[in-house]
Amino acid sequence: MCYAASRPSLRGRPANPIERTTLTKPTENPALDEQQAQALMESARAARGFAYAPYSRFPVGAALLADDGTVVTGCNVENASYGLTNCAERTAIFKAVSEGRTTFRAIAVVGPQDDLACAPCGACRQVLYEFGPEMVLVTPAGPNQPGGVRMTTVGALLPGAFDGTDLPALAEEG
Ligand SMILES: [Zn+2]
Repeated sequence: MCYAASRPSLRGRPANPIERTTLTKPTENPALDEQQAQALMESARAARGFAYAPYSRFPVGAALLADDGTVVTGCNVENASYGLTNCAERTAIFKAVSEGRTTFRAIAVVGPQDDLACAPCGACRQVLYEFGPEMVLVTPAGPNQPGGVRMTTVGALLPGAFDGTDLPALAEEG
């Protein structure tokens, strides 16, 4: 059996993986309006321009809206080791925290194509959750709504998440 034949096939997957996720269920009362979400998405698209993705050629941009109104952007930063690659969402979070911001209203994420949603990976969902399950995630609405955005919450993306309250010392104090 040749190697190629033994690999799992990705054919047959939906063209847009977002259709398989809870992102198809928009949040009912998002903490930001359509205009704010569009502006945040525009910042994410601009940040995507700085992506360092020579290996995957899959540039991603993120824009994080802090409670004080500051927008902190991030892009994916790849590495020849592959495993040390950092996603756009985590780049934005780590930048923001390192600048003294730890409370956020929303994050917009966009992949290579403007109208295709780019779902945060599991690692990013966990890191975003640390800073609030109610944080709004803004993504492109999909090819059927060019220029549109969709909103959900980080909590909806990671039900039953592990967080600080799961740590015994904190649970006893609380
Ligand atoms: Zn990620």
